[in-house]
Amino acid sequence: MSRKEIIDRFSRELESTYRQRTGKSEEIIRDASRYVPDGDMRISVWMEPYPTVMKRGDGCRLYDVDGNEYLDYSNNWTSMVLGNNHPRVVEAITRQAAQGSAMAAPFEQVYDWAGMICERISAMERVRFCTSGTEACMFAIRGARAFTGKDKILKMEGNYHGSYDIMEMQVGWRKLPPGLPKSAEQDVLTTPFNDKESAEKLIRENRDELAAVIVEGVMGAAGMIPPEADYLKFLKKTASENGVLLIVDEVISFRLSTGGAQMIYDVDPDLTALGKTIGGGIPVAAGIVSLQEMNQESLERINSMGESMADEFRKMLQNLGIKAQVKGYGSLQQIHFTPEPVSTASTAFLTQDRDILRLFNMAMMNQGLFIGNRGFFALSTVMQDSDCQRALEATECALGELKLV
Ligand code: PMP
Repeated sequence: MSRKEIIDRFSRELESTYRQRTGKSEEIIRDASRYVPDGDMRISVWMEPYPTVMKRGDGCRLYDVDGNEYLDYSNNWTSMVLGNNHPRVVEAITRQAAQGSAMAAPFEQVYDWAGMICERISAMERVRFCTSGTEACMFAIRGARAFTGKDKILKMEGNYHGSYDIMEMQVGWRKLPPGLPKSAEQDVLTTPFNDKESAEKLIRENRDELAAVIVEGVMGAAGMIPPEADYLKFLKKTASENGVLLIVDEVISFRLSTGGAQMIYDVDPDLTALGKTIGGGIPVAAGIVSLQEMNQESLERINSMGESMADEFRKMLQNLGIKAQVKGYGSLQQIHFTPEPVSTASTAFLTQDRDILRLFNMAMMNQGLFIGNRGFFALSTVMQDSDCQRALEATECALGELKLV
């Protein structure tokens, strides 16, 4: 049997189980297509043949409209560090909603919250709040341009900094996605992540036009790829020597320690962008209680659970003879179905076996495991060892089903 025939057979089998379990989701997505293109609300959560429609979340569990239960390892693309409907987050949102939600004046508590953030991140002297991670990156860039009087930005291939036009350059495997202005190519330089030589060359050659280098603390969308130990420090030093600012985007990586990735890699960026994690997973609604719950003890606990899971994944992959890499840091881990070592986005995107990834995701859904559809696992503080044990069992079953492919 050819590889294609094997993949088609597995695909049919997994899809048939998936469809049997999620009939109501299929109906809802089909009807929704009348008002929403293809019934797709958010491209990053789309899966073939249709996404599962969820009804509610409770702690580290999700329940779909057909009544299936899932362990939630997606955590809304990593942002729900405390899991779903955390009682303190629910209480804080409810209390605040009863007192009014938005008015053209500051709330007193916002100043306490700003103080908490600055105390956790030593390089942050002051905070400017905005409404999303996209805006945080956009305003950090604008601030860097205003401060330096220069226009160009250097970003890493595969780093995602939200849906601000110029920052969408070279996020996936397309340099200039449809709809972006061609001028973006003049404003944004790109370099592979973890490649010091290339970054240094570009910074030196463009120092008179370059306002800032922007980099994720750990590459998120490209596959939970951590920086090499001194990479961020090197970027800061090279940028500073050339009159260029360093922006570290911690929208995903802030969860890795009380002071984010910059604390782990000992770097003091000029500007830091933060997102949903500081608001309890939702744009800035329950900031103070979220930071209290994201304390050193709880973050270290999920980091060590994540590292143990990654070790187990490596053993499983080796035992099953599946060529794949496990990348990640602490509570953020990802399986890359590629024989190539993964340290840049191009290896992650271009050498990945997408057929296997698609089948793996579906097999995991059929097992009641909801992971990021790129194969990632983002742990939440409400998870227990027994949840990770269940996730490992499900992963072993899913990988076992795929080992023949
Ligand atoms: N930067 C990074 C690293 C992200 O992962 C994201 C989205 N998760 C953003 C920026 C944009 O954040 P938002 O969705 O809040 O606009």
